[in-house]
Amino acid sequence: MTKELDWDVAVVGLGSMGSFAFWQLARMGVNVVGFDRYRPGHDKGAGHGETRIFRTAYGEGVEYVPLLKEARLLWRELEGETGVELYTENGGTMFGPKGDIFMKNVEASVNEFSLPHKKYTGSEAKKVYPQINFKENHVAIYEEFAGFLRPELSIETAVKRGEELGGNIFTESPVEKIEADENGVTIICEDRQFRVKKVIVSSGGWTSQILPELKLPLSLERQVLVWYDAKNPEQFTPEKFPIFSRMKDGIGFYGFPTVDGKTVKVALHHGGQIVNHPDEVDREIHESDLEPVTEKVKEYFPDLIPVPVKAKTCFYTNTPDEHFILGPAPGLPNVTLLGPMAGHGFKFAPIMGKIAAELATDKTPTLEIGMFDPSRFNQ
Ligand SMILES: Cc1cc2nc3c(=O)[nH]c(=O)nc-3n(C[C@H](O)[C@H](O)[C@H](O)COP(=O)(O)OP(=O)(O)OC[C@H]3O[C@@H](n4cnc5c(N)ncnc54)[C@H](O)[C@@H]3O)c2cc1C
Repeated sequence: MTKELDWDVAVVGLGSMGSFAFWQLARMGVNVVGFDRYRPGHDKGAGHGETRIFRTAYGEGVEYVPLLKEARLLWRELEGETGVELYTENGGTMFGPKGDIFMKNVEASVNEFSLPHKKYTGSEAKKVYPQINFKENHVAIYEEFAGFLRPELSIETAVKRGEELGGNIFTESPVEKIEADENGVTIICEDRQFRVKKVIVSSGGWTSQILPELKLPLSLERQVLVWYDAKNPEQFTPEKFPIFSRMKDGIGFYGFPTVDGKTVKVALHHGGQIVNHPDEVDREIHESDLEPVTEKVKEYFPDLIPVPVKAKTCFYTNTPDEHFILGPAPGLPNVTLLGPMAGHGFKFAPIMGKIAAELATDKTPTLEIGMFDPSRFNQ
């Protein structure tokens, strides 16, 4: 006899993506349950560290822009429903040599999608933003629809709102197994079993442990965030200092205005140690972590004091093509994969959550997601 359903949809992992799928499902009136191995807003996954960049002029590919335009509206919807400020749209400056693929994609994004922006040569940009030591051969594109998100608060707010709308959650409850069949899915969590119609798996860096049969080609990469004191913090407030991004093949860097009125966060993008499991991420901070970031600070930010005052670790869950994973899990009926997000997914959380919720309720996705198809690695 088929056991009766406990819930219609389960979300396994209430981190950056899962919290938003949970909210979207509850909002759609779906009978939803969410599980997380920790408490939402924790610092063990990929959704912590005070701030995350949002930008729509997307150096990683013009095809992301429609998703980002929709995500921007959905961030405001969650803020509107809860009264919590999650997104500060203070603009963003992307810079680098004109020929860099990242800058070409940023330029194509602003042109093709008529995104409000300003273009500068390196020396012009230096006059507008003397806080950054742009190079002569750089171009800079300032985009209005950019700024920063509050990751921990966003996750907590999305989960809380989902609960208010009727969703149930189990925290500090690691799901051990997901057994999918044609009629539904059994979820084994500690010594209990639950039966649901569909499951969304949004377990980030833990996805290969929870669904080893998919053999997803994921690699976990340790990253370090570093904070520096500003000599003149009033020059680094969100009103005066946009988020910035200098991305390129290999190791890029990015950073934020001050959010505490004192320090500025700078980080490298990539170049971190590769590990097999989130538990293997070294959480200690070493001199060798700080030194390359401080070198960038010395080179590009004359008004920051090049002595780290704080640092934190985090990790990316990379895919071979650096695109996200979103769609039906190959060979596993009733299972939708939401992530991993290849180290650049936070800004997309509300639209990824919405599309995953649509897939889990047999609706047509709001936007095109073919490039995120989980089965692309099996060809
Ligand atoms: C240092 C750093 C800086 C970044 N900067 C940016 C940025 O500026 N802008 C941007 O857009 N993106 C950025 N990213 C990327 C972005 O943060 C990630 O792509 C995103 O957080 C990934 O979300 P996720 O939901 O897949 O993973 P997570 O947020 O880690 O969520 C996974 C969740 O699953 C839970 N879980 C795992 N296993 C189980 C289980 N068995 N049972 C129950 N629960 C489970 C975990 O506890 C966790 O809560 C950055 C990432 C890092 C590390």
